[in-house]
Amino acid sequence: MERLEKRKVDTVSLVKSYVENDYYSNLLIIQSSILQSMREFMISEGFLEILPVIISPITDPLNHDIFDASIDYYGYSYSITKSMILQKQVSTLVTDRIFSMSPNLRLELENRYEDKRHLIEFVQMDMEVANAKREEVMDIMERLLIRIISEITVKHTKIIEKYNSGLVIPKKNFKRIRVQDAIEKYGDSYEKILSANAKEPFWLIDIPIMDREFYDKQNPNDPDFLLDFDLIYPFGYGEAISGGEREHEYDQIIKRMDLKGNSKNIFKDYLDLSKEGLLKPTAGCGIGIERLTRYILGLEHIEKARLFAKSPGKISI
Ligand code: AMP
Ligand code: MG
Repeated sequence: MERLEKRKVDTVSLVKSYVENDYYSNLLIIQSSILQSMREFMISEGFLEILPVIISPITDPLNHDIFDASIDYYGYSYSITKSMILQKQVSTLVTDRIFSMSPNLRLELENRYEDKRHLIEFVQMDMEVANAKREEVMDIMERLLIRIISEITVKHTKIIEKYNSGLVIPKKNFKRIRVQDAIEKYGDSYEKILSANAKEPFWLIDIPIMDREFYDKQNPNDPDFLLDFDLIYPFGYGEAISGGEREHEYDQIIKRMDLKGNSKNIFKDYLDLSKEGLLKPTAGCGIGIERLTRYILGLEHIEKARLFAKSPGKISI
């Protein structure tokens, strides 16, 4: 990777921007409140919080190109977590409903800076439910979002009025759009167009099988599509949540890995568990904390949505 001086964010200027006006203290008030509402809601729904996994031989293969981030340890390779998908599936064997405030590292290419919603280090509230269908997870996430926005607009009215006076509490049930229908109507930029035109969050469901990873469950009644979903924020803020039902059967996982060209060697532990019949049906999803903060505060770029933001193509503390 090339090293350019212009990539380095000046630390003194950055820290001065933190202290020179009240934006960042307001940000922390809102973000802290988001995290508190989220935890309280999840616990009230019977979820237990698991500690995040930072490194593992297994992480999410992802569906797009990023730089590799792995560490050699005694001749074995540890990947820095891109998502805790396998660990979430395993945790639901211990207790039915789990969530984690999970830091993820994804070394995105610098062109991702322009879309204003990618960081290379971010936190997602990653959750998984044993024996659930996707509808159950979608219902939980709709109620979660409504709860967070309701509580914040009541508790921090002045801050919300200052930064995002148009913020509306969404109403159940959120609209659902099949991806195939969206593609037919709007072409490949469907997500961008739909998000820009929307006034409330909405779901994209039934994502085409090649667009996602091997662990997203194939719809047995409609095999070109997955039993999954994305939640999309309105006003052009884009994707908020991705999730769905999961594959757990060995033969099916093998089939899906072959389809995507995943290395069976890298995912050996995943395959061993499914072969033993240890993986069970689950559904779950992840919601990015910085993207939610950006949406609630109406921020132009996600790099204003946390302290110590790491933007694609930049180096920062
Ligand atoms: P994924 O399963 O890859 O869609 O990730 C789950 C959620 O994490 C997404 O819906 C986003 O809210 C958030 N997320 C994913 N990648 C990033 C990123 N590079 N920067 C910030 N948030 C992200
Ligand atoms: Mg996604």
